[in-house]
Amino acid sequence: MNHSGLLKQWSQVAWTEGRYDLHTHSIASDGTLTPSQIVREAADLGLGGIALTDHDTMAGWAEAEEAAREHGLSFVPGVELTTKTHTGFVVHLLAYFIDPQDAALYEVMERVRRDRDRRARDMVALISQDIALSWADVESLVSDGATIGRPHIADALVSLGFYPDRGAAFNDVLHPGSKYYVPNYAVETLEAVRLVRLAGGLPVLAHPAASRQRAPIPIPALEALVDAGLYGIELDHPENRREWLPPLRSASERLGLMVTGSSDYHGAGKENRLGDCATDASIVRKMATDAGKKR
Ligand code: AMP
Ligand code: ZN
Ligand code: FE
Ligand code: FE
Repeated sequence: MNHSGLLKQWSQVAWTEGRYDLHTHSIASDGTLTPSQIVREAADLGLGGIALTDHDTMAGWAEAEEAAREHGLSFVPGVELTTKTHTGFVVHLLAYFIDPQDAALYEVMERVRRDRDRRARDMVALISQDIALSWADVESLVSDGATIGRPHIADALVSLGFYPDRGAAFNDVLHPGSKYYVPNYAVETLEAVRLVRLAGGLPVLAHPAASRQRAPIPIPALEALVDAGLYGIELDHPENRREWLPPLRSASERLGLMVTGSSDYHGAGKENRLGDCATDASIVRKMATDAGKKR
């Protein structure tokens, strides 16, 4: 595949100076704000730019890009891919600057989205055996064409008065150990890394030390991802557990990984505030130069 067009395009953008929040979710997946509302908030905070990284969809890009142009900040196109290791461990992979026309990557995201829909219906069916929740309650809270996730089920349970907020619903019925939990299809992580590279994008490992996980990503697993083409790692993320970071930081340096920072903002859906963690414009500029490069 020839990515020379993309390469030219991204490296020639006049990237705004300042801090960039490289991980945000809109109503195109499980965030609570529209892409333009996120951009407006970023402008109010004085950020240089943002990336929109909705789960398994590029649907919010056009709106975010236009809003960014209006507000004079820069837009980085991204997605957060739902992947799984060969041992069944769910890994979120951020993918920046991917070619939106890439058929293989698009097909993978379509498949994940279709199965997320099936999985949400299955979980609601299980929950409804014990709690008065219907599929219509959930469906009415999902924006047209949005990627559905457990947060939408949480929102329905909150609106029906069963829980005060998403977190409480997650702690009770939606967590992976719950009897109502149903897994969904996910592309294998190594394969996802390769697909992102083939689409001219930069694969970045999201929240590698998230406190929700039992352990941080093991170093040999990180090395295998780098061999497959991993570009960066999100070491600055509000949910990363501080004690787990030092070995990841030294491994990342040894492996030549780009280190990014971002908030994983979900609007009112999570405590994370926009700009909580961020990435400097100089790094975004380097990323834009590296996007689309053959390797
Ligand atoms: P799913 O994609 O359906 O597996 O759900 C995962 C999404 O739920 C991720 O975007 C998380 O940010 C979000 N999530 C996980 N735990 C919580 C929580 N305790 N409160 C709010 N959102 C959560
Ligand atoms: Zn999310
Ligand atoms: Fe994530
Ligand atoms: Fe996220």
